[in-house]
Amino acid sequence: MNRIRESARSPEKLLDANLNQTGHLPEDTRSCKNVAVLGATGSIGTATIDVVNQLNRVDPEFRWHVCAASGHKNISLLAELASGLDLPPDRVVLSDRKSAHAFGEDEARIRSLGSRVDFGPEALISAASDASVDIVVAAIVGRAGLESTMAAVEAGKRVALANKETLVVAGPVVSRACQQSGAELLPIDSEHSAIFQCIQSSPCPPKKLILTASGGPFRNWTQAQMDVATPKSALAHPTWKMGPKITIDSATMINKALEVIEARWLFGLPAEAIEVVVHPQSIIHSMVEFEDSSVIAQLSPPDMRLPIQYALTYPRRLPCPSPDFDRTKPWDLTLEPADPERFPGLQLGFEVAAAGGTAGAVLNAANEEAVGLFLAGKIRFTDIVVGCQDVLRSHSHESDPALDRLLELDRWARKELRNRFKL
Ligand code: NAD
Ligand code: MG
Repeated sequence: MNRIRESARSPEKLLDANLNQTGHLPEDTRSCKNVAVLGATGSIGTATIDVVNQLNRVDPEFRWHVCAASGHKNISLLAELASGLDLPPDRVVLSDRKSAHAFGEDEARIRSLGSRVDFGPEALISAASDASVDIVVAAIVGRAGLESTMAAVEAGKRVALANKETLVVAGPVVSRACQQSGAELLPIDSEHSAIFQCIQSSPCPPKKLILTASGGPFRNWTQAQMDVATPKSALAHPTWKMGPKITIDSATMINKALEVIEARWLFGLPAEAIEVVVHPQSIIHSMVEFEDSSVIAQLSPPDMRLPIQYALTYPRRLPCPSPDFDRTKPWDLTLEPADPERFPGLQLGFEVAAAGGTAGAVLNAANEEAVGLFLAGKIRFTDIVVGCQDVLRSHSHESDPALDRLLELDRWARKELRNRFKL
C-alpha cells in the first residue's frame, strides 16, 4: 500500500520502480508465480481461478500456480476448483475442523490430487505467509479476512486486495506494516484499480480522486419503497454479480462509503480530495483529476477479471478473459452527482475517512452485523444505515488505536448494533 500511497503523491516513483530507464518492462527471469487465493470459493476467488487458467493458456512457458486455496465451509466447490487447475494446489484450507467429518468424498478427492487439507485460522495465516508464495489474493469477505491479509502484508508479499474491509478497519496499521515489510498492495476493487491505472498517466500527483458508483438496484426508489425492500430485491444488482454482503452494501451505498475509506488509505489523499459520482452503466470505473483540471478515466465492461488480472500481472498487460467493448452499437455513458440526501450511507464514508482512528472499525462492524440481520429478515433495509449512524455516534473516537483495540471495538460495535434493535 505504501508503494501506492507514495505513488499517488509522486507517481514517478511508481514508474521508476517498474520500468527501466529506456521505458521497457523489467525482465522477469522467473518461470512460475505461486498465488495463494484466500476466499477461492467466492465471486472474486472463482474469477481469480478463471484468470489464472487463462494466463496459463496465454504463455505456456510461464506458469501461474494456485499453490493454496481457501474457502469457509464449501469443500465441494474447493474440490471442484482444485480438480480444474492445471497444477493442483499444495494445500486447501477450510475454516472449521469440526465439520470435517461431513467432508468425506470431497476431502478424499482433494487429497487424491496430492494436496494437503488444513483447517482453522492458523492454517489460513500460514497459507498467506508461506515462503513459497509470491502473490496473495485477499478475497475473503469482511473482517474475517483481516488476520490473513495482515499476515501476507507482514510477510512482505504482493497482496492483490479485494478485502477492502481490512483497510477500513485497520488502514493505519496495515500502512505501517507495509512500510516495515516492503509488501506491495495492489487493488482489485475496480474503482481503485482504475485510479491506480489513471495515476500512471502522469508523473504529477492527482488533485482529486473521482470514484464512480452504479447507484445499485435502488437508485431511483423512494424512501417508502426502500423501507419495505426485501433481501431478494436488494440482491438484484443491475450491473455486477457479486457475493451477498457486497451486493447489499451496494444497495445501501455503504460499499461506496467503504471505498472512499479504502481510497483514503491506498492513495494517501484526504477525504476532501475524494469525490463520488453516480454512473449507472459501470463502464467508467473511476477517474483522476490533475492540477490543470484534466480528468483521466479508465473504462472497460463491468467484469472483475480485468482488475484481478492487472493486480496479478502488474506492470504487464496480457490478454484477459474479460469481454471487449462492443463498439458496433451505440452506448451511453451518464454521470450524475451523488445526492447526499438520497444516499446517507455514502456520507458515512466521508465522515469516517476524515475521522480515521477507530471510526472505520466501528462502521465496518456495525454494517456487517446489520447486513447479516437484514438478510436474516430481522431488520428493515433502511435500518442498516440508521443503525450504522447510531453506533458510530455512540462510540468515543480514539485517533491512534492499536490492532487489538480495533478488534475489541469491532466486537463492541456488533453488540451495540444488536442492542439497538433489541436482538
Ligand atoms: P463472496 O461472498 O462471494 O466470497 C467470500 C469468500 O470468503 C468465500 O470464499 C467464503 O468461503 C470466504 N469466507 C466467508 N466467511 C469466511 C470466514 N469467516 N473465514 C474464512 N473465509 C470466509 O464475496 P465476494 O463478492 O467474492 O467478495 C470478497 C471480497 O472482495 C469482499 O471484501 C468484497 O468487498 C470484495 N470485492 C468484491 C467484488 C466482487 O465483484 N465480488 C468487487 C470488489 C471488491
Ligand atoms: Mg468496487
